[in-house]
Amino acid sequence: MTRRERFSRGPGVKLLLATRNTGKLAELRRIVGGAGGSFEVLGLADVAPFPEAPETGATFAENALAKARDAVEATGLPAVADDSGLAVDALNGMPGVLSARWIGRHGDDLGNLELLLGQLADVPDERRGAAFVCAAALVTPAGLEVVEHGEWRGQLVRAPRGDGGFGYDPIFVPDGEERTSAELAPEEKDAASHRGRAFRALLPALLSLGDG
Ligand code: IMP
Repeated sequence: MTRRERFSRGPGVKLLLATRNTGKLAELRRIVGGAGGSFEVLGLADVAPFPEAPETGATFAENALAKARDAVEATGLPAVADDSGLAVDALNGMPGVLSARWIGRHGDDLGNLELLLGQLADVPDERRGAAFVCAAALVTPAGLEVVEHGEWRGQLVRAPRGDGGFGYDPIFVPDGEERTSAELAPEEKDAASHRGRAFRALLPALLSLGDG
């Protein structure tokens, strides 16, 4: 029996994505579903609440692994977690793991974006490269730990454009594009984005969960 057949016949493997972001849940469901995996992908809203530690790691991988480990410990389910951010060349990779709270507090996407634009005001066009980076971690109750990375390179423009996406999307123009990532359709963004790449890189490990 092939792996695809096993999945299409057997009951779904429960998998927790340690997030409350419905967009990320939909994206992981599309990716595992499209690969023939029969998973029931749950989010944090679908399981009993547990304390969520603040993201204090020095790297995206540390944060993603810590979130996934906590989720496995609290629920006993195999868990995926991701951590992501924007690495700006002219700032030596910052805001990086501090992307969500660059302005000094959480939840102010516009404040973060405006602070970054101000910091880059004098940086010439040829040095405005940046990358969205994502680490996605899979941890299982049996002790398997896998981390994969995805990167999406582009340039930062000087004025925000577009209503889609979130965070720094309105100032990020992916390589090969003229639109910002806030002007792409959601499925266009999924196909190219750092998170889509990291989730897809986890697929072989995810599909192997059905083999046990
Ligand atoms: P988190 O990994 O969901 O915690 O995201 C961290 C932060 O990185 C977000 O708050 C955004 O500021 C930024 N970020 C991560 N991914 C994206 C993206 O796809 N578009 C825009 N900003 C992003």
